Amino acid sequence: MSEFHNLINNNLFQGRIFFDKSLENLTWLKVGGRASCLYIPKNKKDLAVFLKQINNKVKINVFGRLSNVLIRDGGISGVTILIPPSFSEIEIHKNNKITLSSGMLDKNVSNLAFDNNLGGFEFLSGIPGNIGGAIAMNAGCYGSEIKDIVEDVLILERDGELKSYNNEEMKFSYRKSVIKKDQIIIEATFQGRHENKLNIKEKIDAVISSKEGSQPSKVATGGSTFKNPKEVKAWELINSSGLSGYKIGGAMISPIHNNFFINTGNASAKDFEKLGEFVIHEVEKHHGIRLEWEIHLIGDSINEI
Ligand SMILES: Cc1cc2nc3c(=O)[nH]c(=O)nc-3n(C[C@H](O)[C@H](O)[C@H](O)COP(=O)(O)OP(=O)(O)OC[C@H]3O[C@@H](n4cnc5c(N)ncnc54)[C@H](O)[C@@H]3O)c2cc1C
Repeated sequence: MSEFHNLINNNLFQGRIFFDKSLENLTWLKVGGRASCLYIPKNKKDLAVFLKQINNKVKINVFGRLSNVLIRDGGISGVTILIPPSFSEIEIHKNNKITLSSGMLDKNVSNLAFDNNLGGFEFLSGIPGNIGGAIAMNAGCYGSEIKDIVEDVLILERDGELKSYNNEEMKFSYRKSVIKKDQIIIEATFQGRHENKLNIKEKIDAVISSKEGSQPSKVATGGSTFKNPKEVKAWELINSSGLSGYKIGGAMISPIHNNFFINTGNASAKDFEKLGEFVIHEVEKHHGIRLEWEIHLIGDSINEI
């Protein structure tokens, strides 16, 4: 904790700070170790002050709702920053544009767009997590992705300075963007299109019902475990390798959607990582295709004896 001592009695910034804080219950997979230092900023000014306070050699990791990460059992050293729901400022512009802070939940963004007759945001109603996480991951479903609606992204660099990136500079690709671990998405401006509410509502309902019909619900999961290879879906490869329902420890391949891993109650992060590595091995053996993790694996493992 010594590296953070200067932060403890520091009145320069607000927000909440915790030391040796368990992250397990904050993650969607309900596994993972502890954060050496967890900081939840109050607002963007506060966050910028905080970044200037900490030694620039201290490693940082930034998250939203932890819905697409596997935090290893040994936890995360350095500073872990969680972007909270209080980062939810909204600015509605002319020409069907909106600017949103990165802590806003994706489904609330979709609802806001509906309220303002803005089309193009419907897919967000099916994605957990916040809009900062969605931008970092270029999240998407059913043929739409963040890159289709983002115009500019405001990023807080490691030195506490703000920089604006346009869509091209974000280098969006499949579940990927230019964002590095030490860059923090603060807000973004989106370009929607004027659409009537009935159309928008129909599309939102279609997204929600497709998700309900094809994915496990009310279980601890991290969503799609692997990226889909070019020509084929990851779940099909897992299924045809005979792995539906396969379990290691408390981590299981959901029989409802084979690319979703679920926590049956007592899984460790190691169980999930082992299961993932086993799937990669088996799929390559059966199909000659090497699956790539979509879920981000973060932090340190605990050495097994
Ligand atoms: C049930 C379920 C269904 C899902 N369905 C989909 C789907 O249909 N499509 C899809 O694309 N994803 C899906 N996901 C995955 C996940 O919800 C998305 O990737 C989501 O956008 C992640 O947002 P988050 O806030 O939880 O990010 P986190 O999981 O907290 O972080 C994900 C990554 O983004 C980075 N990050 C997060 N916030 C910031 C920030 N403010 N600044 C810089 N970097 C940041 C993190 O460092 C990390 O690398 C699903 C997940 C679940 C559990």
